[in-house]
Parts: sequence; C-alpha cells; structure tokens
Amino acid sequence: MDISLTHRLSFKQASLTVLVAFILGTLLSIIQVAIDYASEDASINREIRALLEISHNPAARIAYNIDAELAQELVLGLLRSPAVTRAELIDSNGQMLASVSRPRSESRYRIFSDSLFGAQRVFQDPLYVAHAPDEALGVLSLEVDTFAFGNHFLGRSVLTLATGFARSLLLSLILLVLFYFMLTRPLVDVIRALSQRNPQDAQHKPVPCPKGHERDEIGILVQVTNRQLSAIAQEIAQRRSAEDRLTQYLSELESIVSARTAELKATNARLSESNKELEIARTKALNMAQARSAFLANMSHEIRTPLNGLLGMLALALDGPLSAEQRQQLGIAHDSGKVLVELLNDILDLSKFEAGQLELESIPFDLGALVEETASLLSQNAAAAVELTCLIAPTLPAQVIGDPTRVRQIVSNLLSNALKFTRFGRVDLLVEHDATGIQVRVRDTGIGIAEDAQARIFHPFAQAEVGITREFGGTGLGLALTRRLCEAMHGTLTLQSKEGFGSEFCAQLPLPSQGRSAAVQLGGDIVAMTPSSSGLHQLLERWLPVWGLSYRRLDTDASLFGVQADLLISDCPECLFGLRPAVNTPILLVTAYGNFLPQEQAQRLAPLQQIARPLARHGLLQALRHGLRHDASDQPAPQSTSNLEKRRTRVLLVEDNPVNQMVAKGMLVKLGCEVLVAGHGGEALEQLEQEAIDLVLMDCNMPVMDGYEATRRIRLNGRWPELPIIALTANALSDERERCRAAGMNDYLAKPFRREELATLLENWLPVDT
Ligand code: ADP
Repeated sequence: MDISLTHRLSFKQASLTVLVAFILGTLLSIIQVAIDYASEDASINREIRALLEISHNPAARIAYNIDAELAQELVLGLLRSPAVTRAELIDSNGQMLASVSRPRSESRYRIFSDSLFGAQRVFQDPLYVAHAPDEALGVLSLEVDTFAFGNHFLGRSVLTLATGFARSLLLSLILLVLFYFMLTRPLVDVIRALSQRNPQDAQHKPVPCPKGHERDEIGILVQVTNRQLSAIAQEIAQRRSAEDRLTQYLSELESIVSARTAELKATNARLSESNKELEIARTKALNMAQARSAFLANMSHEIRTPLNGLLGMLALALDGPLSAEQRQQLGIAHDSGKVLVELLNDILDLSKFEAGQLELESIPFDLGALVEETASLLSQNAAAAVELTCLIAPTLPAQVIGDPTRVRQIVSNLLSNALKFTRFGRVDLLVEHDATGIQVRVRDTGIGIAEDAQARIFHPFAQAEVGITREFGGTGLGLALTRRLCEAMHGTLTLQSKEGFGSEFCAQLPLPSQGRSAAVQLGGDIVAMTPSSSGLHQLLERWLPVWGLSYRRLDTDASLFGVQADLLISDCPECLFGLRPAVNTPILLVTAYGNFLPQEQAQRLAPLQQIARPLARHGLLQALRHGLRHDASDQPAPQSTSNLEKRRTRVLLVEDNPVNQMVAKGMLVKLGCEVLVAGHGGEALEQLEQEAIDLVLMDCNMPVMDGYEATRRIRLNGRWPELPIIALTANALSDERERCRAAGMNDYLAKPFRREELATLLENWLPVDT
C-alpha cells in the first residue's frame, strides 16, 4: 500500500498543526520583538541622560572656571561611551571650551536600525551650580549614534524569530512521527489486510486489529468492518447455495422441457397430420354442402312443381260443392301441403345460408306497400279477437333500396308468428325510419316468451317450450332464418318479451332510402267510433291529419246526435245499427278478414263502405275519397277481390304442365278472368297474334320454346310493348328474377302460389276498372 508523503493522514495532520503553531509562534515572536523595541528605545534616552547627569556637576564647575584643559578631559571621557560620537562643552558666552568627535560605525544592517531608532540623537544639558540655578554657565552637548543600541536590538530580534521557527519545525517533525505511528501505520496495516482479502471468498477470515488499538477508533473500525464482512460472506454463501439449487433446478427443467418439446413435436406432427385430414374432410364437407344445396335447389324445383299442382287442385276442389266431412279432409290436406311448402322454403333458405349462396338484391321498392301487402295476405291467420294494424310512419320515404323478397320474408315470418301466438288483443306492424335505416317492429299481446327461452329460439329447430309444436305447429326454423336474413342485410333482429304479456320483435335494417311520399290533400271532418286503445284509432290519428282531414274519436257507446261529420269510421258494427235513419253520415266500417256484413244488414246502414283489416294507406285513401264524395253505395272496399271478379280480363297462361295449367286456370277463373292456355312459347306467340290479351302468365322452363325466349320474341315484335308478362317459375335460385327481367318480363311469381298472391299481382299490373 503506497501512499505518497503529502497524501498521508499523518502528514496532513502534522502540517496543519505546524502551520497553526508557526503562525501563532510568529505572532508571539513579533509581539516580543515589539516590546523589546519599545524598551530599547526608552533605554537609549535613559542611558544618555544618566551619562549627562553624572557629567553635569564636573561640567558645570569646568564651565564656571572656564578651564579648557579639564573640559577637554571631560569630553574625551564622555567620548569613551560607545554610543557617543560627539561631545562639546560650551561656556555661557557661547565659546566652545572643548569638542571631540569620532566617525560613526558603519554596517549593512544600519539601515534597519536607523529606520527603527533614527540615525542619531542630540542631547543638551544646560549647566548651572546648585546654589545659583538661575545663572547659566554653559551647555554640555552630546551627539549619540543609535546604531550601538539598534545593533543589539536587531541581533536579539533575529534570534527570537529564528528560535520560534526552529521550535515550530521541531514540533512538526515530532508530530509527524507521532501521527505516523499512531494513525497512519495502523490504518495502512488495516487497509493492507483488507486489500489482501478476496471478496468472493466465502470463508471469512477476520481482519487483524493493529496492536494497542483494540479499544480506540481504529479497533472499532476493524470490528465493524469484520462484522460487515462476515455478513457479506454469509450472504455470499447463501446466494451460492441458492445459485447451486437454481442451476440444478434449471438443468432439471431443461431436461423436462426437452422431453416436453419432443412430446410436443410428436403431437404437432400428429396434429398437422390430423389437420390435413381435417382440411380434406372440410373440403369434402364443403363440397358436400354445396352439392346438398344444389341438390336441394334442384329438388325444390322438382318438389315444388307437383306440390304446386297438389295445392292448386286441393284449393280448386275446396271451392267446389263438397260435404262437410270432405271439406274438412281436403282442408287438412291443403293446410298440410302449405306447411310442407313453408318447410321446404325454410330448409332451402337455411341450406343456402350454409352454402354461402344467399345473394341479396339491391333494388328500390316501396317498403310501406310491401309491409301492408304482407299483412293483408296474412290477415286471414288472425284470430277473431285479434286486431291487426299496420302503423307506417308518415315520414317513411317512398322507396328503400334492398331485397324486397327477403324483406317480405322477414316481415312475413315475424308477423305469422305474432298472429299464431296471439289469441286476443292486438298485433301491430310498425314501420319507422331514422338516420340508421329502417325499423320493422312486430308487437303482439300474445303468450310471450320466457326469458330463458329468448336466446334459444333464434337457433334452428328450437322452440320456446316443448308443447309448442303440439299446440301451435311450426318447425322452429322461422326465427333462425329471419335473424340470418337481417344479419345478411347488415342489420339486427332483437326481441323484447314478457311471458304472458306479449312480445316485440324489431328488425333494424340499414337500407338506404330514396324519394319522399307524394303529398295527399283531402278536406273534411272524420269522426271515428272506436275504443281509445284500438289500433284503428292510432292509425287514423297518425294519418288523417297528414292528409289534411280533421279527426275526432268517440267512444263506441257515445251518441252521434248533433255530431257534425263528413264521414264516420268504426270497427264496431253493433254500435251503428241504431243510427239510421236519424243520422245520415256515410259510414266506413272496418271489419276483420272475411267478416263483411251480410247484404241486408249492409243495406240498413247505407251509405256504407266495408273495408277489411289491416287498413293499408292506399285502400284507406280510396275509401275516404269515395266516402267523402257522399255517393251512397255499399260497394265493398277496394281491398276486396271484387274488382277483379267484375273484370273480364283476358289472361294468356303459358304452361306446359297440365296439372299446373289446371291449377292456375282454376284460380284465374275464380278471380274472374277469361283464360287462354298455351303449352309452350311458340303457341303463346301464335295466340297473341290472334287474340287480344291483357296479361301473360309465362312459365320459364318449357319444351319447344321456353319462357325467356318467348318473352324476348314478344318484346322484339314490338306490337305489345305495354303487355304485362309475369314469370311463373318453380326455380328458386337467386338470379332467377334478374334473368326474367333481362328477358323482358315485368314481374315474378314463385310456384306454388296462393290465389291471394296471384290476385295482388293482377291488381298491380292491370288498370283498376271502376
Ligand atoms: P316456429 O314458429 O316454426 O316454431 P320460429 O323460429 O318462427 O319457429 O319460432 C321459434 C319459437 O319462438 C316458436 O316456436 C315460439 O315458441 C317462439 N316464438 C316466436 N315468435 C313468438 C311470438 N310472437 N310470441 C310467442 N312466442 C314466439
């Protein structure tokens, strides 16, 4: 351990002590010298005065006697004093009696003495005798050289300072040595012992304490250090053992990991093997699913055709004269057939979803009218005590863009459920729209759905309860399909329901809208006799003000006497019978499906119009216009099929299948049409050349010339540009409608169809003959 002298603690301590001692010693020496100086200065004057005092009397007598010889001796005696450089005796007349002098001694230190005491001093002693002190006898004058005194003083001062310095030096040396032995050496020993230790050494050897220092600060430093070192050594030992354990554990772990890795590799290999197998199986399954859906689509075509015939024939037979028993049997057969068709459609749609084949159209359509039509078609399913109402928001745009067939399917599924599960009360179909799209709500007061069943019923083949099929029928496919349809349109289907109180399904569909409904302006006062809780009241309250009509509601038991109204609307026939002839306001009676008043009762209430629920806006408007013209008539409402029945419309039915021919022909005849039949496209063209035809119902797949080709030729011919051609097809594939349109057909009717569907279609395409 090599520490330079100037860095040693002992040196630093000694030099500091010496510095302080030196400064203090010097200060004391200077004070001593200053005191010495003052006393030396005073002693010069004292000595010379003493000399003068001794010489005073002899000098006075000499001056009195004016003895020059004695005077000379006296001054020579005075000159013997080492400090005196000149001595003179002057008589009272100012005559010099004796004068002696000698040169002053020279030295290089003289300058210091002169600066301290002055170069020389002159002393004069006036001479007199004791008995005549006032008589001046002369003057004894001495010139003194101060160097004689100053030289001594300088010597003493130098000695004083030198001894002080030497003392300090000696003291510092002694202290240096002492400090070295007391402090530096033991500390150096401790440092050496510490630096020789290996910090990694787990075996703690204590640092030895320098001899004689066991109880002082160095001893305590060594003790504390030893304690710390032993703690560190202990910790190192603990860490070592932990490290050893860790290493051992790691090596165990490594071996476990490598074993597991090997296992995993093997499993991975097995997995990738089974993945490959799975992929093959998946592809196979996908191919099979596609094949299945294609098979289903084709099969549906094959099944629909005979089903169409079956249902059509049953419907025709049901219209004929039958015994009650036969009617019941055929009715059951017809209903079962209808269920079969619905089931077939649902399964087909589901399989399309699964095969990813469902394609959605994007065309503008009148959503309000579509909803009203669907409700009207399903209204016959409503129980007698159920009021079905279509509440369309007046702000609903004229058209929305989407797939009308699929939207109809959603509405129809939700509505048929609501009607099926509601025995009394109300079923409302609400259509609203906002910035996010349209909402179709179907709200009923039926049996409701238990909370735990609410999620389940959206799965295929799931129903709310086990007894549902037995009591209400159904397959559990409708909601699964409806939800998928909503999701395919990027919408949602939500449900709120309370068991025993009813349900509300809401289909939220983000369909873009287009155009505004044409404004209608009528004038008049309308009074309705209906309960405030009725759907009819809600509908009238919503729409009549929009059409510029004033609207008031009366309770069903209110009296009409004195009430001014241009038209009275009611859904309560019994409340009206007492009115005539006292009140002659025209009446619009709203009845449930198939519940028109018999002829003679209607006569009693004339002028009376009857209109079936649910009220569509168009039908209501027509009835209002009619009623407000005040022409007495008991014409049934425009929604009734009687318009068609009156009309002798000539329809050309182009269909190769004789059963389908019979079914369609039967329905058309029932609807009051005159029917011409062609077996294929070629025949149809011939018939068109010869006969005046109002509308063509065209099957698509026929031998000789199919429907597409025939339509193209009809359009190319140019003679019948306005002639409506309606495709009849059992092919359910999605691009069918587009194909028909491309060939020049105006509309599309999927087989098997119901008489109501056919009637609605004819209503749409043939001008109303009023
Ligand atoms: P399905 O009606 O053919 O059984 P759905 O999928 O349409 O099949 O309906 C599934 C089940 O949901 C029904 O069986 C019925 O239990 C319940 N459900 C659907 N709609 C309603 C409703 N409006 N009121 C009460 N229960 C309903």
